[in-house]
Amino acid sequence: MNPINVMINGSRGRMGRAIADCAEDTGVHISAQIDAGDDATQFIDFVDVVIDFSHHLATLPIAQLAAERRKPLIIGTTGHSEIDREKIAKLSENVPMVWAGNFSIGVNLLFYLTRKAGEILNEGYDAEVLELHHRHKKDSPSGTAERLIEVLRETRGLSNEHVVHGRSGIVGARPEKEIGVHAVRGGDIIGEHTVYFAGEGERVELTHRASDRRIFAQGAIRAAQWAVGKPNGLYNMEDVLGLR
Ligand code: NAD
Repeated sequence: MNPINVMINGSRGRMGRAIADCAEDTGVHISAQIDAGDDATQFIDFVDVVIDFSHHLATLPIAQLAAERRKPLIIGTTGHSEIDREKIAKLSENVPMVWAGNFSIGVNLLFYLTRKAGEILNEGYDAEVLELHHRHKKDSPSGTAERLIEVLRETRGLSNEHVVHGRSGIVGARPEKEIGVHAVRGGDIIGEHTVYFAGEGERVELTHRASDRRIFAQGAIRAAQWAVGKPNGLYNMEDVLGLR
């Protein structure tokens, strides 16, 4: 089988470089490396799939180009506005799009386990999410924390209004219908996420710790290989891994 040809958008960044490093081992060919100021239109016709790990404002333009030229798109970038999220998701009507806040296999298992635990530890167990990342991270909470919150909201039938980001001052006793989210930033932490289910007399903690960026790069490459030839639509890493 011929290797698939990949365009990386955000190629000079930490993730772009990690994807290029992993490519050889995983049998894909990086044929276009695009970063800020480069013209992706020159190269898009020569690739089979586009992987975007760039900046939240850069995703919509590359998604529009990929949709126009019918190239499957893998999106790892996080921090988009709600309006951009909707516009990007709509483009999946024209191409297969795998969009994941976290491409690691372990984190996608964490999503699955959080759903299971959330169903069992529902009434009487307070759910909180803690995430830790390096000092350069621009958005908060992380895309992974957003997905964990979404899973918890779904299992508890709660809306976004029930999500509380950090607490400060005399906030009063914790309401039962609340999901607390806390972000720590510092040093070179690649990424850690813990979901707490705190009840009276016991507490369950589900934790994932990333120690190497290659896990995201390998997952994104796996998603790129999976997406080629799939029907148009919006997928996530749970689809790629068959966890749904
Ligand atoms: P980074 O800052 O190291 O790299 C981003 C790169 O994008 C830079 O080289 C920058 O010049 C480039 N860029 C900026 N504007 C651009 C444009 N208009 N067109 C093309 N490239 C442009 O960041 P990073 O650590 O590599 O992370 C990139 C993104 O991926 C972030 O949003 C981060 O949160 C996300 N991320 C996601 C996952 C995941 O598994 N989904 C994992 C790690 C990081």
